[in-house]
Amino acid sequence: MPFEFQGKHVTVAGLGVSGVPAAKVLHGLGARVTVVNDGADERARAQAAELEALGITVRLGDGDTLPDGTELIVTAPGWKPTKPLFTAAGQAGVPVWGDVELAWRLRRPDSAPWLAVTGTNGKTTTVQMLASILKAAGLRTAAVGNIGVSLLDAVTGDEEYDVLAVELSSYQLHWAPSLRAHSAAVLNLAPDHLDWHGSMEAYAADKGRIYEGNRVACVYNVADKATEDLVREADVEEGCRAIGFTLGSPAPSQLGVVDGILVDRAFVENRHKNAQELAEVSDVNPPAPHNIANALAAAALARAFGVPAAAVRDGLRAFTPDAHRIAHVADVDGVAYVDDSKATNTHATEASLAAYESIVWIAGGLAKGATFDELVAGAAKRLRGAVLIGADRALIREALTRHAPEVPVVDLDRTDTGAMLQAVQEARRLARPGDTVLLAPACASMDMFTNYNQRGDAFAQAVRELGA
Ligand code: ADP
Repeated sequence: MPFEFQGKHVTVAGLGVSGVPAAKVLHGLGARVTVVNDGADERARAQAAELEALGITVRLGDGDTLPDGTELIVTAPGWKPTKPLFTAAGQAGVPVWGDVELAWRLRRPDSAPWLAVTGTNGKTTTVQMLASILKAAGLRTAAVGNIGVSLLDAVTGDEEYDVLAVELSSYQLHWAPSLRAHSAAVLNLAPDHLDWHGSMEAYAADKGRIYEGNRVACVYNVADKATEDLVREADVEEGCRAIGFTLGSPAPSQLGVVDGILVDRAFVENRHKNAQELAEVSDVNPPAPHNIANALAAAALARAFGVPAAAVRDGLRAFTPDAHRIAHVADVDGVAYVDDSKATNTHATEASLAAYESIVWIAGGLAKGATFDELVAGAAKRLRGAVLIGADRALIREALTRHAPEVPVVDLDRTDTGAMLQAVQEARRLARPGDTVLLAPACASMDMFTNYNQRGDAFAQAVRELGA
């Protein structure tokens, strides 16, 4: 039964990127909308004024009280499930939807199916690769979610799509109980956002929701058993298949790599005997192992949708990654300088470090409770040296002392704007021709920079000054 919004009391929890458009759409559908928001800063007041001018009620500075008469809450995905507002909603039997659930419920009956992607790392890249492949197949599509078009715009706007490539975070999945994708992939699963979800089990369970009700394929990572377990636990449509992707040679019902070629042994006639060549590893940009895994996941979803092999190759060739994701900045004196400022957790950095033979590693920032022993122990053999920056650099230094005592470490005790330039200069001093100087901080950037973009830009600027 479609939800009838006319005259319904709907509370939107949280202003901001998803709350403001959600409030407007619901108001437009005839709902009686109240927005509640914790903060009351200047931005919130400006947003509130805009909504109030439309006749929407906004309560600033009180995100915890359930407004009287609420029949439905539409929440910003980041709001923690333990918030008193949700406890009150639970007691009152009021359903809670996130932005994704709202978009799912508002889509037209004949609207485009969703190919969905989640995972601890690689979501944005994979969704963009997928959209590029779908476009190469002549389909009308968009990469939606965190990037580009918002989900709500994609389902309520005038633009027509054949299929959507949808990025979903664990928060969004938590609040999207009725979402049913055509096919979905969980790229990998490593501890992240555990303070929000409460435990690794709860985090995994929320990620696993992406497979619920899949019609054609549940795509998992052969190298990450936890993702396969989620497929096994999912309740899917009859006939939906489990499809693995692997950097090794693929078994039947898998996509993988053979002699530098991406091959499909899932969506082919007689998969026990046959395989279909999709693309070459060199068609993937950059051809780092984790990114080849992303390409295979994107290819699996596209193939599940019936895309021909040639479009997979053309789409991968046409794809360029977003900035600060293993971006090659320059070669200076035979040393490559690579910006992976987006590697803000140890799982991403582990993948990044695995992509190079001999590395001078620039790392550090805000650790967000992470530990670095496993990361450093795994990469020790490939480290020529390390340059540490930022608030929690001592944690990384201690891990280096324990697991890579012979690796020279420069510890930079400064956080001013010149710090990155000095870090790059120190890295240059440690590097030898053939090495890679890799900014893959394994930490958040906010102790020294506005965000990871600014951190990456500072690195690129410093490299350009070296070459000048
Ligand atoms: P997300 O949208 O999940 O944050 P991105 O595509 O923006 O993912 O990549 C984020 C970071 O994770 C990048 O620094 C990249 O090096 C790393 N990364 C990308 N794909 C993977 C993967 N499959 N496994 C591990 N790390 C990855």
